[in-house]
Amino acid sequence: LSTWSAVPAGPPDPILGVTEAFKADKDSRKINLGVGAYRDEHGKPYVLSSVKKAEESLTAAQPDKEYLPITGLPGFTQNAAKLAYGAESKPLVENSIAVTQSISGTGALRIGGAFLGRFYPHAKAIYLPVPSWGNHTPIFRDSGLENAPEKSIVLLHACAHNPTGVDPTQEQWREISDILKEKKLFPFFDMAYQGFASGSTSRDAFAVRHFVSEGHQIALSQSFAKNMGLYGERVGAFSLTTVDPEEKARVDSQLKIVIRPMYSNPPVHGARIANTILSSPELYAQWESEVKGMADRIISMREKLYDTLVGLQTPGQWGHIKSQIGMFSFTGLTQPQTKALADKAHIYMTADGRISMAGLNSSNIEYFAESVSKAVK
Ligand code: PMP
Repeated sequence: LSTWSAVPAGPPDPILGVTEAFKADKDSRKINLGVGAYRDEHGKPYVLSSVKKAEESLTAAQPDKEYLPITGLPGFTQNAAKLAYGAESKPLVENSIAVTQSISGTGALRIGGAFLGRFYPHAKAIYLPVPSWGNHTPIFRDSGLENAPEKSIVLLHACAHNPTGVDPTQEQWREISDILKEKKLFPFFDMAYQGFASGSTSRDAFAVRHFVSEGHQIALSQSFAKNMGLYGERVGAFSLTTVDPEEKARVDSQLKIVIRPMYSNPPVHGARIANTILSSPELYAQWESEVKGMADRIISMREKLYDTLVGLQTPGQWGHIKSQIGMFSFTGLTQPQTKALADKAHIYMTADGRISMAGLNSSNIEYFAESVSKAVK
């Protein structure tokens, strides 16, 4: 008898499973709108020019491959914090942000979950949005956090909410901040799309910066997967604001103790790329314009899709395609409709009707709109 004979087969990942089905489809018209990865106008993965230049200068410098410290590349984490909190942020200026590099956004959330699971002094419970990114529930379940009573932790998507593409307005964020204060809830921001929502990294950081300026202590997960296109490099950061450098030092020491048994220390290459971009004024400017370019292309696809659906007299309201922001659109397509689109039109999306807008381009958008129109008629 095998040692593993009692291991039950698990279900496929609801998002990555879509890509597997797409890969198996041999039809030339096939479209993958499942995974949230940017594609260029030709449907190809996109390596930013700022990233290529940063890599060239790194190659020329021939850096070694030594281990990073447990909390990662110090220049990178300082720059990541500056990008999120803003250069004038009080805790940043006062050196009271405890920050560590992470294995992209997922790793940041998982470190945050583990740290809060160990040290959060109130109920070890977290509220997640409904709906939310599919991996949030397993991440925090595996961190030992539970369903939530008062004084709980609240997970907030900082911008470009996944899967809905619907963000609070600035006015609504102010209200949310007041309510969290009143109820003594603890905000844990997941910022996986800074720059992707509006095309501006500072505008997309509004919620995070507003909460900090209002005196909230926050936890923050950052990912450089989308905004720098560094998906497989796994570049991210996790941070906590503390009251002063002495408290920060205590928190830092415990972050190391949380991380060391998980993976010892993070990968070096992607953090060097991000740090090169964030610390060079020239590359930074180029990067910001490339982020805006990606955001703008997605926005233009929203307009085109809306116009085409309406032009085809597709039943229903489609205004949300244009008003939603970020990588995704929550189309409102039902599960049978998404299944029909996969079976009959070779178009793949998650079962909840979420589409990655970045998978659309001028060569496939009409076929997509026509197929949707047929599916709902
Ligand atoms: N949070 C949200 C809301 C996301 O959409 C994603 C990416 N799909 C992540 C976190 C983390 O992704 P990664 O680990 O690739 O940075």
